[in-house]
Amino acid sequence: MTDGADHFDHALLTVAHDGPHAFEAVVPPIVQTSLFTFSSYDEMAATYRGEKVRPTYTRGLNPTVRFFEEMLAKLEGTEDALGFASGMAAISATIISFVSPGDRVVCVRHVYPDTYRLFGTLLKRFGVETVFVDGTDLDAVAAALPGAKLFYLESPTSWVMETHDVPALAALARQHGVRTVIDNSWASPIFQQPAKLGVDLVLHSASKYLGGHSDVVAGVVAGPKALLAEIRAAAYPYLGGKLSPFDAWLLIRGMRTLPARMKMHEASALSVAARLKAHPAVEQVCHPGLGNKLPPGLSGTSGLFSFIFREGVNVRAFADSLRLFKLGVSWGGHESLVVPGEVVLAQAAKPNSAVDFAISPRSVRLHVGLEGADALWSDLEQAIDAATGKES
Ligand SMILES: *Cc1c(COP(=O)(O)O)cnc(C)c1O
Repeated sequence: MTDGADHFDHALLTVAHDGPHAFEAVVPPIVQTSLFTFSSYDEMAATYRGEKVRPTYTRGLNPTVRFFEEMLAKLEGTEDALGFASGMAAISATIISFVSPGDRVVCVRHVYPDTYRLFGTLLKRFGVETVFVDGTDLDAVAAALPGAKLFYLESPTSWVMETHDVPALAALARQHGVRTVIDNSWASPIFQQPAKLGVDLVLHSASKYLGGHSDVVAGVVAGPKALLAEIRAAAYPYLGGKLSPFDAWLLIRGMRTLPARMKMHEASALSVAARLKAHPAVEQVCHPGLGNKLPPGLSGTSGLFSFIFREGVNVRAFADSLRLFKLGVSWGGHESLVVPGEVVLAQAAKPNSAVDFAISPRSVRLHVGLEGADALWSDLEQAIDAATGKES
């Protein structure tokens, strides 16, 4: 096991104004309001002129949302952060803010499928070309970077869990004057703080580990004030998609336990992954922490990984025999989840739905939740028995 979460500084979970809240409530209250009124003409005029910064309308600034943004910026070690109504809202607003027709984006292969589709459909329609590269091949990356506008990273990547040398990729991009963006949802700021590794902008689907309880869909981008101002200038007035106060409140609640949850996801997933690897019905386990040295900058591993069954295992029977693991998309919550590769391949066969990786139909993605490794392993073991025709 790694020690990323053990060395976590819990003071990072407080923000500058995390002093007494209204009524000295221990939890910051939800400021559930769409607009804020002004006490006078002069105050309103000063705010509109930009001389006074205060909440006016929740699409732009809301104290509960701001509290979450400051908390996340602190966790990621960035100057600022901006909350969105979903991870995809954060991803699309961030990319759109920096590209124009004729620009080229370089993107590592195996990114989150909707991000991949965003590049291939909407951005393509607006004249932005995307080149996909093998992020493990520094020469290929170096060859693709000259003249590019943005370098989009995800490490480990979705499903196949390919890891990258993020500091080396960020340095390479900097050499070529290319801005870097990374989707850090998998590692969370507990195990990877990309801004400290030289990446310009850090994205999260906050629906995953930041929320952690499968009860909120949200996103966030963190980075330097100047870049965030550029994103805010497009997102606030035109794109909307702002994080809501209640969802921000759920995220603040969830993030209080982020270090403890990540530690348990890590330990349980490593334990389950090791037992899968030793199982005769399993051909391969794709988990970045299993017997490998972690790449530079990654101090721990989370609960999401995949594995490939040997030929002849009935994946449908496996999925239908699981009791603790539920069949479901998403991940990052308390509950353990499973997605069969066959199902993803069926979706990928639809127009505009292609994923950029030919995943094995025998592969399965697992999210290891907080139920406890032994109980989860018993569940997997009896389901594999059912899928291989053994009596359980
Ligand atoms: C879920 C996910 C997203 C999209 O986030 P939403 O909150 O669902 O919009 C982006 N990146 C990764 C890696 C994800 O798993």
